[in-house]
Amino acid sequence: MEIVAVPAFSDNYIWLVHDQASGETAVVDPGDATPALAEAERRGWTIGQVWNTHWHPDHTGGNREVKAATGAIISGPAKETIPGIDVRLSEGDEIRLGEHRGRVVEVPGHTLGHIALVFEDEQVAFVGDTLFAMGCGRLFEGTPEQMYRSLQRITALPENTRLYCAHEYTLSNARFVATAEPDNAAIAERLQTVERLRERGEITLPTIVAQERQTNSFVRASTWQQFAELRAAKDSFRS
Ligand SMILES: [Zn+2]
Repeated sequence: MEIVAVPAFSDNYIWLVHDQASGETAVVDPGDATPALAEAERRGWTIGQVWNTHWHPDHTGGNREVKAATGAIISGPAKETIPGIDVRLSEGDEIRLGEHRGRVVEVPGHTLGHIALVFEDEQVAFVGDTLFAMGCGRLFEGTPEQMYRSLQRITALPENTRLYCAHEYTLSNARFVATAEPDNAAIAERLQTVERLRERGEITLPTIVAQERQTNSFVRASTWQQFAELRAAKDSFRS
């Protein structure tokens, strides 16, 4: 499985997922069809599926255009309104790309129907706006308790699982968690790494589960109440 980042808008990443064996390609959260279609064409890939993690327009805005251009089948969360949806996904459902099988995990919090897609054979998960590197999505629809549980589910995956988040928020998140856990050496070290990457305009994703367990204060919170305090502090944090 080959996974390619397509930058979109100011800080979104659309992920192109290609299976060499079958030649099949999926696109995750195409908020904007133009860059996704262009990158697929440049690589000689034909998009056959759209996978959406949640309904927000910066994740689904390009759905209909991708479908019109390629005939792609659109799969997304059953509990949300997704443009052009063909397949409604709920907890435990399976998606396939060639011989790769992905499992749907419901991760409410950022939105109520938000899903993550977990490919255990590849140790890969597409987590949308639920978990970010050293951070997490804002609570637009769900409760802190729901989001805390969703983050725990994602970081309970095997520690080498690569997590593909949908935004480049890592630097701001790193600066925040460095204030939340000033004595955490792993955070301090990762902040430096992220600063160097972003100075060069480089991507900081994917992250991996083991790194998030060490450096993501939202994941490391011991209760959902502690998580809720951190989330509220981050909402007003200016880095
Ligand atoms: Zn969102």
